[in-house]
Amino acid sequence: MRLSILQYGDPMLRAKGKRVEKVDDRIRELAQNMIETMHAANGVGLAAQQVGEATQLTVLDISQVEDRPTTMKLNDENIEPAAAMPLVLINPQIDLGSETETGTEGCLSFPEITGEIERAKSVTVRAQNLNGDPIEIETTGFLARAIQHEVDHLNGILFIDRMSSAAKTSLSSKLKRLQKETQRGAKHRSATGRIRGGEQKAVAETTL
Ligand SMILES: [Zn+2]
Repeated sequence: MRLSILQYGDPMLRAKGKRVEKVDDRIRELAQNMIETMHAANGVGLAAQQVGEATQLTVLDISQVEDRPTTMKLNDENIEPAAAMPLVLINPQIDLGSETETGTEGCLSFPEITGEIERAKSVTVRAQNLNGDPIEIETTGFLARAIQHEVDHLNGILFIDRMSSAAKTSLSSKLKRLQKETQRGAKHRSATGRIRGGEQKAVAETTL
């Protein structure tokens, strides 16, 4: 079932996610719905807050992203990232590598807005999967960036918080408009049909 994606201005996006104590059918169903919603919106990541649940649960799928290199180890074994997608992370704990790089990001809760964000080049994540089993992921490149974006969502942090103040200033009127639109009750747009064509697809591929 497709869920509505909340937009900037909705207070839920600032809520810190509660720990999942038990990975049960309700959590599995929510994760499945989130994957369907993310795919329908051409996004590569989605956090529970974005669909109205303050829960430590995020889903990712970078298998369609072609031009942003990624390496991945799952439980200490090298794995082709596409083979591990869609990826569900429950209660993720993240350790950041010390080197950073800047890259373009979009966010499904901020339609048509992108920004250059500095993030760690590599991360190690400990989480649970849909069986409740512990997993450990070491990753670099785009998946490392995507996971950092999603774990931020789980803590109520948004990508605009990590933009330079100059970038944020130049977006301020767009952000105000979006916030007003959300508060007027136009809580979400249809997730489909918004993105068309090659250039916009490239933008969509960085939308988390
Ligand atoms: Zn996002």
